[in-house]
Amino acid sequence: MRRSIATVSMSGTLRQKLEAIAAARFDAIELFEADFINFNGSAAELRAMASDLGLGIDLYQPLRDFEGMPDEVFRRNLDRAERKFDVMQALGAPLMLVCSNTSPLSLGDAERSAAQLHELAERAARRNLRIGFEALAWGRWVKLYSQAWRVVERANHPHLGLILDSFHTLSLRDDPAGIAAIPGERIFFVQMADAPLMAMDVLQWARHYRNFPGQGQFDMENFFEQVLLSGYDGNLSLEIFNDVFRETPNRRTAVDAMRSLLYLESQVRRRLERLRDAADADAQPSATQQAGAREAARRGLARTELFNPPDAAPLGGIGFLEFGVDEAAAAALGALFEKLGFARVGRHRSKAVTLYRQGHIQLIVNAQPGSDGRARFDAQGPSVCALGLETPDPVLAANRASALLSARYDSPRGPGELRLPAIVAPGGTVVHFVPGATDAAGELDADFLLEAPTATAPAACGLQAIDHIAMALANDQFDTWMLFCRAVLGLQAGESLELADPFGLIRSCGLANAERSVRVVLNVSLSQRTRTARQVSATGRLGGSVHHIALRCDDIFASVTQLRANGVRCVPISANYYDDLLARLDLDEPLVRRMQALDILYDRSAAGEYFHAYTEAFADRFFFEIVQRNDYDGYGAVNAPARMASQEQAAPR
Ligand code: MG
Ligand code: MG
Repeated sequence: MRRSIATVSMSGTLRQKLEAIAAARFDAIELFEADFINFNGSAAELRAMASDLGLGIDLYQPLRDFEGMPDEVFRRNLDRAERKFDVMQALGAPLMLVCSNTSPLSLGDAERSAAQLHELAERAARRNLRIGFEALAWGRWVKLYSQAWRVVERANHPHLGLILDSFHTLSLRDDPAGIAAIPGERIFFVQMADAPLMAMDVLQWARHYRNFPGQGQFDMENFFEQVLLSGYDGNLSLEIFNDVFRETPNRRTAVDAMRSLLYLESQVRRRLERLRDAADADAQPSATQQAGAREAARRGLARTELFNPPDAAPLGGIGFLEFGVDEAAAAALGALFEKLGFARVGRHRSKAVTLYRQGHIQLIVNAQPGSDGRARFDAQGPSVCALGLETPDPVLAANRASALLSARYDSPRGPGELRLPAIVAPGGTVVHFVPGATDAAGELDADFLLEAPTATAPAACGLQAIDHIAMALANDQFDTWMLFCRAVLGLQAGESLELADPFGLIRSCGLANAERSVRVVLNVSLSQRTRTARQVSATGRLGGSVHHIALRCDDIFASVTQLRANGVRCVPISANYYDDLLARLDLDEPLVRRMQALDILYDRSAAGEYFHAYTEAFADRFFFEIVQRNDYDGYGAVNAPARMASQEQAAPR
């Protein structure tokens, strides 16, 4: 199964696109016609360039507004096609994509369309070329793959087949189940595109917002499973029209693209294995159907070399966060941690690194000159430079990440010091995999010279665990992070939300593992003026970093009371918020007044409730959220505008 990508999916000149695509180890490209027309060279030169890079030109696309035309227009279209065939032969491209007609001149006559496509296929056959017919979601007469397939069936020519594109099917909420019944050898090419769910015109949606499988909200896995059950074993390809990709550095886009295919293949491989291995439910009327599906799954697995990476390792929780600082910031941050109730555990044996702990939370302050954490400080000020994810199998987790194209990471360490398998997340944050929750504390302790607690240290505040981290990301990092979290870390995405900051909108999506012990929230600012955007611009080319850290407690009233007694400054919340809370929700007034006294925000869902409060930002970079969850699965997004407005009003002018 060849992996390919359309040149329209990438930024850059055609040569730069091909170099990035080749570097990400694709087998082939789909050549988008405009890329060829504007290419400063001949078809033969392009063919040689692709060949030198080890890339096939597997598809030339698209030929538009071809079929179902009045006779006189059709004759002209055939002449146009012959010229394109000349180009394809010079390129060595064997297949042309014809998309369904959108022209007002077209006639909704399936017989005519089939006859004209037959004629085109006959012309193509003379040159040993093939034609694939694709239903555009906004085609005038043919919008669905089932309609396109009926035309292809009726035309009945061996050089004419069907092209499938997940976007066109799923954007119309059409059911891909019928694909499995189409003979696989009659499907000539398959394009996979995901997209965020949006209520907008399908043409605008298609031209600007498609993204790679695993970055959006369509059910890519079901679609691709149906394709494989049909018996198809041709290209697995990506055709992505996306405004952001057009400006994203194309090397990153190409790696994301390959990662998305590897992830899709591996997920669908597991689905087919489950289908193949499912036991017959005896005495069920559908037993024959099930046996047929099992056989199709067996054949699909045998016929295609679907990628088979190590499974995602189970994750326990976020075991630690490491902050990159200099000496002055280390002292200020350490003082804040102590006020938050953290105990200073000790100093690293060989580095200017200090460990703080409270409950199950570990925070590491790294001011070691020459370290990556320190380099990160030099580039963007104090920030989270690394995090530790707990897992019973750190080697498995690192191998999974490598297989899905994450770079491994090694840090210099002294004799006898702990070595944790680690990888680099998008934007350079290091992710360490640390052994299971119970012994993680002990593991880290080996590297530190433990100190006795000082009598003057502020009291602990009952903070137990890292509930979630929220990333502030540049616009072009959102899809990259979404795919990284899903594919590499095995997290599942929740709903995507738009939140109102006083200076613009924030797009936000939370991801979590099934156990809800690891949660990451991705935020991107659609405006340049929000706090989120300011933080992103401070990180420069890294494209964002952790912008808040939520710490979970069992009794938020006790915790916040102690934080205040320790001198932590929280973001003050408007009295109007609490009046509104009483008006909106059926809550006890004394409870609401207790929240008000401590600037605690509140949300509830059908299942439970969420209490949370925010500290002031440290060095205008990141802040802490104190949370108490009672069977609640979200992030208090309804309160984000209150928090953002309060932060702006509290900020020094
Ligand atoms: Mg397409
Ligand atoms: Mg939060």
